[in-house]
Amino acid sequence: MSEIDRIAQQIQKIGFQCQRCGDCCRGGDVWVMIYPTEIRAIMELTSSSWECVAEPYPEQVPLPSGQVCTFEWALKKKGDRCIFLETNCCQIYLSRPWICRTYPFLLFEERLFHENCPGLGKEIGKAEAFALSRNLINRRETERKEEARVREHGKHLERVKGRRILIDGEGVKILCE
Ligand code: SF4
Ligand code: SF4
Repeated sequence: MSEIDRIAQQIQKIGFQCQRCGDCCRGGDVWVMIYPTEIRAIMELTSSSWECVAEPYPEQVPLPSGQVCTFEWALKKKGDRCIFLETNCCQIYLSRPWICRTYPFLLFEERLFHENCPGLGKEIGKAEAFALSRNLINRRETERKEEARVREHGKHLERVKGRRILIDGEGVKILCE
């Protein structure tokens, strides 16, 4: 059995139907990691600037060089919620990031995991489960490629002068203090 079919079957067994509660789009500890290609797609859809779509992911790693490093970006928030959430609806549905597209599921290597979500346990059709499975596999592939690019850019930090830096798939960026 192919991987896509196997995961689709698992999803059907678990069951999922989004209840449109918006819980995955709000909360103080909810941060959706987003990559530059996804940010640019949302910028195009919404005619917004980078700063209106994303902010540095709120985790920093101190480096032996004295620099403080952030990896990747997070969807911009307004208060405790994603800036694109309006009356429990996603305003960028067609360009929403992989994490939103596949929530509450995720693949770790070949294994399927899921977050807690009120939509779990509800009946899901075969075609919908298959589409979700395909998105999960594509997401994993995108994440692997992005991580490889980040690792590559991280090898050349000695050339970077800034103290607060961010590494994403496009390169090393210097953040304001
Ligand atoms: S994915 Fe889950 S948490 Fe998010 S809106 Fe749907 S039911 Fe709610
Ligand atoms: S982009 Fe859409 S689905 Fe993702 S967190 Fe924001 S409102 Fe929710």
